[in-house]
Amino acid sequence: MSDTVRKPIIGGNWKMHKTVTEARSLALQTKHALVNVADRIEVVVCPPFGALGAVGEVLKGSKIFLGGQNCHWEEKGAFTGEISAPMLRDLGCRYCIVGHSERRHKFGEPDEWVCRKAHALHLHGLAPIVCIGETLEERESGTTKDVVRGQILGSLKDVSTEQMLKTVIAYEPVWAIGTGKTATPDEAQEVHAFIRNILIDVYGLEVALRIRIQYGGSVKPESMVELMAQPDIDGALVGGASLEASSFAKIVSFDTGGES
Ligand code: PEP
Repeated sequence: MSDTVRKPIIGGNWKMHKTVTEARSLALQTKHALVNVADRIEVVVCPPFGALGAVGEVLKGSKIFLGGQNCHWEEKGAFTGEISAPMLRDLGCRYCIVGHSERRHKFGEPDEWVCRKAHALHLHGLAPIVCIGETLEERESGTTKDVVRGQILGSLKDVSTEQMLKTVIAYEPVWAIGTGKTATPDEAQEVHAFIRNILIDVYGLEVALRIRIQYGGSVKPESMVELMAQPDIDGALVGGASLEASSFAKIVSFDTGGES
């Protein structure tokens, strides 16, 4: 983590886990576990859509932000099963994940959709967490950087400087998500630095140094200190380990040895 103006941001992606009752309970435990840490680190939890309202109620009065896991780019209409940015906003969301690898690979979402979603979120005052990352085959064939470059440029097309400063990028190598295989800090840093260089080319140095880039992929409390010691890693997007308040709290309080 660099000593620039970038405040670390750690997100919990609950994916399709937790009923409303379970989500309320996890939110309450998470809120209690993080009572002292939220000032120095930004924390976001992204429950499934059905639990957003309940979790939002629990988080009221805390500094933990609420996020969606996906959205549609239209405000309303005949899009069965979808949720729009203004609806997420109305539920109290400040952030929304877009382009998660599970959306890209299991639901066939192309960069163009991710980009439309990012624009819709900005239009309605939410900040997108834009996920990118290569598959194992892409890494093994040596195309990681081409893939990452294509995803960044395609997913962030026409995003203004002002919008970019609110956007969070999550580098999540697909081979590390939910597999227990974390990228080594060096592997992650190499790609994060590459991403920052693309941002420098597009937005200039001053802006690029202010954009936060999270790492995601089997993050555990034990891997956080070394990951966060890297100059271009500004936080984490956490799946499995965010489903237990105690492990998520340890991840968030990585800089105090797990004490919040
Ligand atoms: C994720 O869902 O974004 C993720 C990184 O999951 P996990 O931490 O379980 O690998």
